[in-house]
Amino acid sequence: MNKCELCNREKELTFHHLIPKKNHKIKHIRQQFNSLNIHTYGIKICRDCHKMVHKLISHKSLALKYNSKEELLNHAELKKFIDWVKNQTKKVK
Ligand SMILES: [Zn+2]
Ligand SMILES: [Zn+2]
Repeated sequence: MNKCELCNREKELTFHHLIPKKNHKIKHIRQQFNSLNIHTYGIKICRDCHKMVHKLISHKSLALKYNSKEELLNHAELKKFIDWVKNQTKKVK
């Protein structure tokens, strides 16, 4: 199994578009990311992280600010969740 790019746990992974599909239509967002393929631009993360990303961050701020793994890891609430989720796994083992 592969590791989640956010919490580093070995989990079944899902694909998260760093530029959410909804925003592809917005011109200035599309122009900003002209050089890359926004359809395949993303990270592989586990379901738990994925759910939390979308719960905490709107599609618009995902596209405008949290459009890289580094920015996502800088999100205070998300970081808290990731630290917590890592601890959960340790306890089980
Ligand atoms: Zn994860
Ligand atoms: Zn997603």
